[in-house]
Amino acid sequence: MSDTPSPEDICPKCGEPLGEIVTTPTGRKLQRCSAGKYDPQTRKTEGCTFVKWFPIEPKTLEEKCPKCGAPLLLAVTRFGKKLKKCSTAGWDNENRKPTGCDYVQWITGTSIELDEKCPECGAKLVLYTTAKGKKMKKCSTAGWDKIKREATGCTYVQWLKPEDAAKYENQE
Ligand SMILES: [Zn+2]
Ligand SMILES: [Zn+2]
Ligand SMILES: [Zn+2]
Repeated sequence: MSDTPSPEDICPKCGEPLGEIVTTPTGRKLQRCSAGKYDPQTRKTEGCTFVKWFPIEPKTLEEKCPKCGAPLLLAVTRFGKKLKKCSTAGWDNENRKPTGCDYVQWITGTSIELDEKCPECGAKLVLYTTAKGKKMKKCSTAGWDKIKREATGCTYVQWLKPEDAAKYENQE
């Protein structure tokens, strides 16, 4: 431990030291300036507004690549889309081409069962997250008939605002 903080821990805007690294409900990591304070109620920052975002590091999954058997990684693109890719995949800067295994599986949407009942039919509701990260509550009986190409079951849907969706995420 030394008394002089490293340049990475100093706010480039005001020169004050940076605060602790915190994780958002969506799993992103950030570090705010200690001279700034974020008020979750007003959703505004008082004082210095500098925020340092950390790149999302891919997470190693227990799942194995169906192509080569190496562990899969869960990666998030800059636009918040999630994908599983093979941990042996890489990029050859010299030859400008991908190396290793090319297995990729985009995650198109996830649903979590909620402890809430559908106001229309009384079945359970699920929290559905689209591939783009938009969230909605929908009825668990809802489905899609691929042959007839029409919706089946209950059609109840309620789109959630990001702040409402965060409440559910925090319960996970
Ligand atoms: Zn600052
Ligand atoms: Zn692979
Ligand atoms: Zn329903």
